[in-house]
Amino acid sequence: GEVITVAELARKMNLKASEIIQKLMDLGVTATINDSLDSDTATLVAQEFNCQVTVRSLKNEVEIHETEDRPEDLKPRIPVVTIMGHVDHGKTKLLDAIRHSNVAEHESGGITQHIGAYKVKTPRGEITFLDTPGHEAFTAMRARGAHVTDIVVLVVSAVEGVMPQTIEALNHAKAAQVPIIVAVNKIDLPEASIDRVKQQLSEQGLLPEEWGGDTMYIPVSALKKIGIEELLEAILLQAEMMELKANPNKPGVGYVVESKMDIGRGAVATVIVKNGSIRIGDYFVVGTTMGRVRGMFDDTGAKVSVAYPSYPVEIMGFDAVPEAGDKFHVVESEDFAKEIVAKRLELKRIEETNRIKKIQMENAFQSL
Ligand code: GDP
Ligand code: MG
Repeated sequence: GEVITVAELARKMNLKASEIIQKLMDLGVTATINDSLDSDTATLVAQEFNCQVTVRSLKNEVEIHETEDRPEDLKPRIPVVTIMGHVDHGKTKLLDAIRHSNVAEHESGGITQHIGAYKVKTPRGEITFLDTPGHEAFTAMRARGAHVTDIVVLVVSAVEGVMPQTIEALNHAKAAQVPIIVAVNKIDLPEASIDRVKQQLSEQGLLPEEWGGDTMYIPVSALKKIGIEELLEAILLQAEMMELKANPNKPGVGYVVESKMDIGRGAVATVIVKNGSIRIGDYFVVGTTMGRVRGMFDDTGAKVSVAYPSYPVEIMGFDAVPEAGDKFHVVESEDFAKEIVAKRLELKRIEETNRIKKIQMENAFQSL
């Protein structure tokens, strides 16, 4: 389809329209200042001027701009936590133990479902846990610009001590500048040594509070459910210090953490709200998919009518399965959603064409 007028292209490239028209003529295209160019022609003429203006301007157009929050619009939000650590040190077990400490779960009596994230209610506040442990998920999300985690809980077995993946996870958390709380696990075992873990991690820059540093170490047993409340309290304490805030009174923005095609319900995705709120009936865009929120559920399968900042919800109403890590935007109308998706598909197509052209060029050079 038509993407840009000659006048607009000239303005964006800081050229006179006549220069573009002349170049187009050289390329065998007759156009006037008010004519629209398709993306291929625009790309071609831009390339003649050593520019990639078409793609870039389209890149701007596919961004959905969020309104700035005024300080008075910001309200406290609950923390989002990811559990990381070496394999077999007890991440899954710890997530289970935390989930079963959930007050809300006992209240609702609902059957828990795996939706990739869950919210735990403690007497002192709520916490969202990403149920996709492992630094692969963490880094994959971050690589895509999905900054959802506020706090990392690093699980280290008090029996095995610090292992290669412990260090890796720690480095990822450090690189992301996400505060770390250490859960020293398996303290029920006689061979457990909490001090050894503290010693080993001190060498990595995580000096315990009790040794004059600022890292919280919480001894736990995921198996025997020891120290779970203390861990949750440590998380809430850390969150309090961070003064996490968001504006619940604007269109929701979030990230997809998990998605699937569900027989009967269609494409569904678990979204963590980053800012604003998501409501039933909202139109939305996620990558090159769109839809309208037909249903929202928590991890107990209970219906949710509004998802506030930091809430994880499973959303129904997508026209296709979105990708994990994709950004979710509530938009004002179906027409706007369609327009954005069309532009994103166009951009994808241009980028794909450019990629193929580049490969062809490289191949041509190689065969010289
Ligand atoms: P992950 O690979 O980090 O997810 O580790 P898992 O949660 O799957 O745990 C690995 C193994 O350690 C399992 O056999 C668990 O039962 C065991 N485990 C986990 N936490 C504890 C604990 O606190 N104490 C003991 N004794 N075993 C544990
Ligand atoms: Mg596991």
